[in-house]
Amino acid sequence: MPSSTYKDEEIQQEDLLYTGKAKQLFSTSNPDIYWLHYLDSATALNGKVKEEYAGKGELNAQITRLLFQALDQAGITHHLLKTVSPRDQLVERVEIIPLEVVTRNVAAGHLVSRFGLKGGEVLTPPIREIYYKSDPLDDPFMNDSQAISLKIASQEELETLYQMADQVNDCLKAVFDEIGITLVDFKLEFGRRSRDGKLILADELSPDNMRLVDHTSGQSLDKDVFRQHKGDLRAGYREILNRLEKLF
Ligand code: 5GP
Repeated sequence: MPSSTYKDEEIQQEDLLYTGKAKQLFSTSNPDIYWLHYLDSATALNGKVKEEYAGKGELNAQITRLLFQALDQAGITHHLLKTVSPRDQLVERVEIIPLEVVTRNVAAGHLVSRFGLKGGEVLTPPIREIYYKSDPLDDPFMNDSQAISLKIASQEELETLYQMADQVNDCLKAVFDEIGITLVDFKLEFGRRSRDGKLILADELSPDNMRLVDHTSGQSLDKDVFRQHKGDLRAGYREILNRLEKLF
């Protein structure tokens, strides 16, 4: 059973709680800490298409670690406590709010198909959207009134969550700009921290849930490469990690 020291405490990995599309979640010897293990799988269409790419889990874990480090500098509270191995992290235990919070700086993906846009239009101000997180329902679009009435999140939580998404956008847009990459759009997930109920940023920050386009070549460096059958997604992911490592 793997173990790790968090501060002065020995943390033991315990039971597998959940296997997601690209990560596994384990309980640990500390009831307020979870153990997150990044897998090598890539999925599209909410898991209907799936493939394995050796090393992808490590790339996503490392990119996530560096981007959370950038958020630390911007004072944004997130769940990452410690890196345990290249693909394992200790995170705060949270109760995930079943919403996908999407921010869009440039028109792409579903925004383009839904509203008949050309794609590539700069969106001012950036668009904020929420989706109900449910694979069987294909993550349907949701509005604030539905989220509040269905008791998914309170009005106050929605306000905090949008405000934090804006802060994350400002921070990550600047980071990616510095390494010659446009942050087109991204998805965040939030949770209520088990030890105090505070709303914090959870999940991962990786090219699996962002669109990232190289300034010079215009090439996608994210999961669109896999979604659109344009080759091996790891080349773009490695490029992002290499550039981020030079920055930090
Ligand atoms: P779209 O709504 O255009 O498909 O996605 C907008 C952004 O949110 C993209 O960066 C996309 O990667 C991310 N996103 C939206 N839904 C999901 C999802 O279910 N899983 C992941 N990994 N990313 C998502």
